[in-house]
Amino acid sequence: MAGLAHRRTLRHTDRSAKAPGTGQTRKGEIRLTESLPPIELTPPDIGPYRRGNTGIDHVTTLESGRPGPHAVIVSLIHGNEISGAVAMDRLFRMGLRPTRGRLTLVFANTAAYQNFDAERPYASRFVDEDMNRVWSPEVLDGPRDSAELRRARQLRPVFDAADVILDLHSMTADTPPLTLCGRTDRARALARRLGHPAWIVADEGHAAGRRVIDYADFAEADGRRTAILVECGQHWRDETALVALESAMRFLLAQEMIDPSLADRHIRRHPDPLRTVEVTEAVTAETDEFFFDQPYVGMEIIPRAGTVLGHDGSRPIVTPYDDCVLIMPARRPKSGQTAVRLGRIVP
Ligand SMILES: [Zn+2]
Repeated sequence: MAGLAHRRTLRHTDRSAKAPGTGQTRKGEIRLTESLPPIELTPPDIGPYRRGNTGIDHVTTLESGRPGPHAVIVSLIHGNEISGAVAMDRLFRMGLRPTRGRLTLVFANTAAYQNFDAERPYASRFVDEDMNRVWSPEVLDGPRDSAELRRARQLRPVFDAADVILDLHSMTADTPPLTLCGRTDRARALARRLGHPAWIVADEGHAAGRRVIDYADFAEADGRRTAILVECGQHWRDETALVALESAMRFLLAQEMIDPSLADRHIRRHPDPLRTVEVTEAVTAETDEFFFDQPYVGMEIIPRAGTVLGHDGSRPIVTPYDDCVLIMPARRPKSGQTAVRLGRIVP
């Protein structure tokens, strides 16, 4: 049962509580509230990287002067996921240069990031909409406007010119780090070449819109370009930024774009074996009263089919098969949102 050592604290309150999502106060209500996780990381000042050298704010390309792939590392697609920015700041400060090809470093949703507030750390995830659901030509070329779409349209040429992408993210719960590789064999192979995170999740993406790793031909079976997303750990833990930096080093090493001796300084040994999970289904909340029976954090392996995980209103949610893996259970799923995805470990 991976990850259960880090159960989150849930506490009951019986004072006036603000109903989540409604903004209304209902006196005397008993409500389960979540305590805020500690904010160990300090958001770095990314002002010095704004001008960059590409003509696009907060996008910098480091040239080796030698032939090789164009690798792109992305942080802050979600403005509150600061570990990726911490790792990228460290890459800049160490004066990293690729030994072949070119490396582009992208701070993506900088407008949301500037709103980061340790008192309300979830609030700066985005300004208008989730920036990881807009990466299809229909949306990018369409008439809709938002802060995220304006920025996505600026960044699109960077991804059009990329051969390989590492997109750095983090998670709400204390979930072990994992790599999302979509459905292509080449992204799964790249995730394995990284060697860590130990969990590799092959998934379909989201009905609500395409992620960066699903953009253009990155997600097509016969495409040439490869993109993976690493969920480095809990959003605001020091450890998560270490995983982000390590993932960047492992990614560049896999592209043979850095000296192994440099990578070695940032790569730790991890005892856990690689495990690949294929997502088989998503559980979508049908009511606003969706509760898990346990404080699942994700990557738990539930041994028996038919185990009750929780309830959606009166509907029990049960595991469909033995050794079912829970992937990133939602903190507070609302009707229509994905509550959890379920998967099987494959060889
Ligand atoms: Zn994210």
